[in-house]
Amino acid sequence: MPDERLLSLEEARSRILQDVLPLRPERVPLSEALGRVLAEDTLALLTSPPWDNSAMDGFAVRSDDVATATPAAPVRLAVSGEVAAGHGPGTTVHPGTAVRILTGAMLPPGADAVVPVEATDAAMGVAALPEVVSIRAPAAVGAHIRLAGSDIHQGDPLLPAGTRIGPAAVAALAATGHAHVEVHRRPRVAIIATGDELSPVGEPLGPASIPDSNSESIAAQVIAAGAEPVRLGIAIDEVEAVRELLIEGVLAADVLVATGGVSVGSRDLVKEVFAEVGSLDLWRVAIQPGKPLAYGSAARPDGGYCILFGLPGNPVSSFVTFELFVRPVLRRLRGEPATQGRPVVRAVLDAPVSKSPDRRAFIRVRLGEEPDAAGRYRAYLAGGQGSHVLSALAVANGLAVIPEGLPGLPAEAEVEVIRLDVEIA
Ligand code: AMP
Ligand code: MG
Repeated sequence: MPDERLLSLEEARSRILQDVLPLRPERVPLSEALGRVLAEDTLALLTSPPWDNSAMDGFAVRSDDVATATPAAPVRLAVSGEVAAGHGPGTTVHPGTAVRILTGAMLPPGADAVVPVEATDAAMGVAALPEVVSIRAPAAVGAHIRLAGSDIHQGDPLLPAGTRIGPAAVAALAATGHAHVEVHRRPRVAIIATGDELSPVGEPLGPASIPDSNSESIAAQVIAAGAEPVRLGIAIDEVEAVRELLIEGVLAADVLVATGGVSVGSRDLVKEVFAEVGSLDLWRVAIQPGKPLAYGSAARPDGGYCILFGLPGNPVSSFVTFELFVRPVLRRLRGEPATQGRPVVRAVLDAPVSKSPDRRAFIRVRLGEEPDAAGRYRAYLAGGQGSHVLSALAVANGLAVIPEGLPGLPAEAEVEVIRLDVEIA
């Protein structure tokens, strides 16, 4: 039975999330792993560095040989050879000798220190191998040597399951021998717009039509959340049309997001079709914008199921409810914590705001660049707060949260702001 009570955001969100599990893992080439989330604890497959090597261009020496070296009394060593990165191990460094070495080259046997070229009389850069080198400074055992395993040893933990793979993780995975990684499958999200008034973006508008901006914004939000949009287009306000796209979406995706048709108007068909195709679990949440929200799930013939969201049609409401409800679900499906993944900062309102007292309001604001000495940003209203005002949403970078129980807040009141422009990986 649909639950028609007014639910708090937390109650609605925890009900939605209670059954959501990360998608099964898949193995992908490292080159396709950016933005994906590791499905297993990952160990180093290689020791890095694999062998002792030089951190500088210079001369591999025995530290005892150069212990007394000073600029006034340099130590002269016979140069017995050279070792470059990718070659080696080079000739053994016997007492009284040195081997010219380049950064990243294997340390030749016998050497226990590297003297940088700057501390010698040798020419820098490409130069003929000198027969003798004058060393002008001592080098302690281990100087300028990167020891084998000083980054990580084979078998050591590298990155835990749940890590979102960013460029730096790609570097570490590559360096430790991972050509492929085990990551959660990327959620597929079917997107359906409903409404006789909607026209696909780019097509000529009729006298009573408007662009279907929700399909565009939701697809963008899906991509930004690391998931894959499956655009199913527009259903007119007829049960059959909504049903047809909904069934297509259930078969094609892990999550389905329909917009419009969830309030109590006579043309609001999404709830009805959810109940018919799967289940309709709740539909009133005490938030502003975005009170009407339909949620459900539908089983698939393959044994899987699709999570159904019916978001309000008003474009700002659809945007905000995606942010508050759909994004945490996508994060969990991706293998990340089921949070919004947005930092919350403290801010001071620049202007008064009013709202409906029984709902928590999410006011579109633009944060000033720098926080004050107390760490609080200034929050400027981004523009009109009507749920159709996309021009304000477009310049907002935060949602100021005004709690239930208040009719609004005066200017200079302190609020929490959810940053929309920052993501916690
Ligand atoms: P509804 O929830 O269907 O009653 O729609 C509420 C408001 O949102 C109406 O003004 C609709 O025209 C508008 N709306 C619904 N769907 C979309 C959409 N896909 N793109 C832009 N506006 C929409
Ligand atoms: Mg409609």
